[in-house]
Amino acid sequence: MAGIYIHIPYCKQACHYCDFHFSTNLNTKTDLIDAILKEIELQKNYLGGETVETIYFGGGTPSLLSKQELSSILKTIGANFTVVAKPEITLEANPDDLTPAKLKELRAAGINRLSIGIQSFNDQVLKYFNRAHNAQMAASAVQEAQAIGFQNISIDIIFGVPNQSVNDLQKDLVRALEFKTQHISIYGLTIEDDTVFGKWEKQKKLTPLDEDIAAKHLETIMKTFAQAGYEQYEISNFCLPGFESKHNSSYWHGKKYLGLGPAAHSYNGQERQFNQAHNIKYIKQLTLNNLPCSVEILTNEDQINEFILTQLRLKQGLDCASLNEKFSHDIMYLKKTEIAQFTDLKMLDASGDFLKLTPKGKLLADFITEKLII
Ligand code: SF4
Repeated sequence: MAGIYIHIPYCKQACHYCDFHFSTNLNTKTDLIDAILKEIELQKNYLGGETVETIYFGGGTPSLLSKQELSSILKTIGANFTVVAKPEITLEANPDDLTPAKLKELRAAGINRLSIGIQSFNDQVLKYFNRAHNAQMAASAVQEAQAIGFQNISIDIIFGVPNQSVNDLQKDLVRALEFKTQHISIYGLTIEDDTVFGKWEKQKKLTPLDEDIAAKHLETIMKTFAQAGYEQYEISNFCLPGFESKHNSSYWHGKKYLGLGPAAHSYNGQERQFNQAHNIKYIKQLTLNNLPCSVEILTNEDQINEFILTQLRLKQGLDCASLNEKFSHDIMYLKKTEIAQFTDLKMLDASGDFLKLTPKGKLLADFITEKLII
């Protein structure tokens, strides 16, 4: 089983923290959709005949696409790949786009899972982020989506905002839980260089949240969501039983996926492909029937590190037996000193063939991972 990701590189306005590939100029949208349709045809053998189980529209802002545009992409995927009868089809949407009419269109186009970019229910934070919606619009979007019949909804929240207290965060979490969505993704704010926040940091107008407080945030998140019955199946992802994101889980389990659109990347088991992160150049290459991508052959070391990095973040933990079987890398032996240190500190649980981060270990996940990779 495999997945397909489609990157829609347009946004209404630039959020101050975002370094994803997107443009606020929508003039090329029609040509870009045509280019994606061409790319689907040119890449029809990329997944080696594997059946597609999940389709994910990410961005950028895929909720800027019309029903016709979404349908044409899905139809072309169906014509060029074998797709399961009921694929998980996710669309990332911004609250300001989700009117009742738009939600009906999305359902009619075949979208069966929404990932709504709420980020916060606090108007001050939303303004600070330069989001195009406010807290009221965020709440209405979720409620309308539920009323219209979406039964698999995820919301995104950001924590670790400069000056955000644990109490502020707790209020956001309590509000988020009121909607009882099936899935919640929650990410720590990172300040990237090429963003407004990056610029503010250099100008000393912004000070990132202290790491210890950010760790307290994560601790609060884990406790609050666990009490509400959500399972932390990946460090940043929580769900009600049975509502894991199939698409994202397939990345974490090393399944093949094809990425379409500018800046999308693909993985076929041996190599990774990176599409050009430039809308006009992407369109031009496809007009000439060329694939707009570069290829990186993954070394054994790359694959081992990726396996460790992704699996350590999962609830099940790192499957050391599989790692050894696939790559002849006996991590239990090769990293026995580090593993012993972390287990003594009650940050790692090394029972059986699995290495699992404990709740304490999750607070230092990046540090522990760094010590366990090659
Ligand atoms: S966070 Fe989302 S909506 Fe905001 S600029 Fe980035 S991709 Fe666009």
